[in-house]
Amino acid sequence: MGGNEQKYINEAFAENWIAPLGPNVNGFEKDLEEYLGQDSHVACVSSGTGAIHLALDIAGVTRDDEVLCQTFTFCGSSHPITYMGATPVFIDSEEDTWNMSPVYLEEAIKEGIEKGKKPKAVIAVHLYGMPAKIDEIEAICKKYNVFLIEDAAEALGSSYKGQKCGTFGDLSILSFNGNKIITTSGGGALVCRNKETKDKAIFLATQARDAAPHYQHSQIGYNYRMSNIVAGIGRGQMEVLDEHVALRRKNNKFYKELFSDIDGIKLFSEPDTNFYSNHWLSAIVCEKSDNQQIIEKLRLFLHNFNIESRPLWKPMHLQPVYIGSKFYGNETANKIFSKGLCLPSGSNLTDSERNRIGNAVRTYFS
Ligand SMILES: *Cc1c(COP(=O)(O)O)cnc(C)c1O
Repeated sequence: MGGNEQKYINEAFAENWIAPLGPNVNGFEKDLEEYLGQDSHVACVSSGTGAIHLALDIAGVTRDDEVLCQTFTFCGSSHPITYMGATPVFIDSEEDTWNMSPVYLEEAIKEGIEKGKKPKAVIAVHLYGMPAKIDEIEAICKKYNVFLIEDAAEALGSSYKGQKCGTFGDLSILSFNGNKIITTSGGGALVCRNKETKDKAIFLATQARDAAPHYQHSQIGYNYRMSNIVAGIGRGQMEVLDEHVALRRKNNKFYKELFSDIDGIKLFSEPDTNFYSNHWLSAIVCEKSDNQQIIEKLRLFLHNFNIESRPLWKPMHLQPVYIGSKFYGNETANKIFSKGLCLPSGSNLTDSERNRIGNAVRTYFS
């Protein structure tokens, strides 16, 4: 927390705005719109997963549609496809960014069209804050006229070719869950390209109530709007977002130096200067032949020093719940998953904690 979160919450109590609307919700949305630029229109909701659910609804996804989703992600990207009664089709990653491979994306769209079932939407992710090759992905979606949802849940503060993540595609989503770069304890947002879409998102997020004095509904809506209390936390967090990005990037720089002289270990890094990652999480991969054992032993070794590290996201096409789903790729995400590890990356890591991690890592590899 930055400090001012409490002030905004107190204002909500003082004015009795204890509701899923109010000055903090409007203020947080305005702060995000100004931060993202690109004439963004933001609708705050109760979670990132809920934001994806609404995005799919706005995209017109219905029962039996197919939606193409990056396989290397957190389940919040893909579960809403099933909420819609639609079918997820998973797309592999490419080596440079660990994100959606434009090659396999195009192959999946082309094959869908040939079979008479053009995919209804694409969900592309910026994993661990690393921007995807979003211009190539956008160009493919435009070429075949497929709706693009940008999952920027992990990438607030990242940018690609100078444009902020959260402003690409037809709709973007953000998350303010407890583990994200800024948090409202739980929350999310839809970033829309125009006011009509924002209004539609808010309409759907507040039970799709028609304009009538009584409660009238012509379609099914959701109870997904963000609370005015939670939005107060968000307003305070916006004041420290740049600082959090700087701290995460400082952690990444520390790991870059730490692993620079450790043979066979590669820090997940920006491919070139077009990519600017918030480095939400710093991660490594082991390039040795017995990489899987080395990485798991490192995880357990760090655990013995009371240092938590975690495996990467397990690709969705390998999850028990998605067994049998269609998949386009060559198991690149799976290979990265089996040789990778997420390292302590919190915005509140201290110098002495970084030293402790450094000593443990050097001891392990010596
Ligand atoms: C966190 C996350 C989500 C979901 O956000 P919640 O706010 O936790 O529902 C979606 N996609 C990705 C990639 C995430 O990391």
